[in-house]
Amino acid sequence: MSPDLSLKKALKYDAEDAIRAYRSAFFHSEEDLIYLDGNSLGRLPKQTTSLLHEEISNAWGTRLIRSWNEEWIGLPQRLGGKLANLIGAAPNEVLFADATSVNLFKLAHAAMKAQYPRQEIISDTLNFPSDLYILQGVLDQFPGAPSLQLVSSSNDIDISLNEIRKKISQKTALLSLSLVTYKSAYLYPMKEITAAAHDAGALVLWDLSHAAGAVEIDLHDAGVDLAVGCSYKYLNGGPGAPAFLYVSQRLQQSLESPLKGWFGDARPFAFESDYIPAEGIQRFSVGTPPILSLAAIEPGLDLLNKVGMSAIRLKSQNLQSYLLELFNHRLEDLGFTLGSPIDPERRGSHVSLQHSFAGQICQALIDPGEGQSVIIPDYRAPNSIRLGLTPLYTSFQDIWTAVDRMVQIMETKEYLKFPEKPVGVT
Ligand SMILES: *Cc1c(COP(=O)(O)O)cnc(C)c1O
Repeated sequence: MSPDLSLKKALKYDAEDAIRAYRSAFFHSEEDLIYLDGNSLGRLPKQTTSLLHEEISNAWGTRLIRSWNEEWIGLPQRLGGKLANLIGAAPNEVLFADATSVNLFKLAHAAMKAQYPRQEIISDTLNFPSDLYILQGVLDQFPGAPSLQLVSSSNDIDISLNEIRKKISQKTALLSLSLVTYKSAYLYPMKEITAAAHDAGALVLWDLSHAAGAVEIDLHDAGVDLAVGCSYKYLNGGPGAPAFLYVSQRLQQSLESPLKGWFGDARPFAFESDYIPAEGIQRFSVGTPPILSLAAIEPGLDLLNKVGMSAIRLKSQNLQSYLLELFNHRLEDLGFTLGSPIDPERRGSHVSLQHSFAGQICQALIDPGEGQSVIIPDYRAPNSIRLGLTPLYTSFQDIWTAVDRMVQIMETKEYLKFPEKPVGVT
């Protein structure tokens, strides 16, 4: 029996979707805009607009510096507690601070120092480039000949567990990987990998940027040492929102941040000349947090906590399998190939489609002719179209329409109207 590929089927799935109501918790300025880039910049929760207005007019405008004691000083840890609940951590193990890159530097450096004289960090070729740059920069801070060992992928989609196991040795100080890889969405088996590293005495640092708010994560169950991640993707915290870091309680007192700022000191308002690290997770803070950007993270965290990660993951997998069904029957014959793992258990919440005209197809989706929906995916050079499926607001109809447009763009050769190299942020 051939599958039902009609729009009617998509609408039926939407009607059966248990969490469809959350779509309206987000700001939609153009009703027919189809946004499939929530894995790069999540949508704006409606609540954020009023919360920021209140924060500016009342907390800043009226209460002025009194707001530090009234609410701001504890905000990075209070919000950390709300995220902890989504990633299987305790509230006193998570802190919002700085950018992901900076947090990675702090924690990887702390791990290298604690693991001396081990000389090696292991990562993979699928990791986000900034993470690899940061790890190189960390190694530059240590004497001798420390090295970054990269496990490579045979297909640019996944990494074999055995290859990782083979690389880990008694020389390994730290294994640092992205739980969901940014291009292919490969989802590592976190618990197995963490255990393999621990067997050799290595520490593990997971980058959760494409995983937090997208997949179920249990840091405690997996025995994870360290983690960092971004809050403007699936957490919907807004452009440049402060990132987060996690340090297991059992390591907090023995690790030392290389960036010793006053917010990580035990007595920031004593203005002493010598640094004494604060107790617990607070020692990984550096300077004054960007309060307005930080405050904007809360509504997204509240929505995710309300829905719960198991319902989010379930819908994410349903959206993905629907997309793959349409892909198999409508896109494969048009030169598209799958750039993500086939196994749904090994996939995060975005799907990568590859095409030799990927850049031009993305431009045609974003900039259609009169009467067509604007569709925003993202393009990753040289040939990937990433479709971010964000369960809180992506509908089955969005997916149907996006696939239908891609078919149309190919059949009419509309993509040829666009230059080969897209410009600007993609
Ligand atoms: C998005 C992302 C980042 C972002 O880093 P910033 O320093 O916050 O800009 C880092 N690492 C990974 C794996 C990402 O996906």
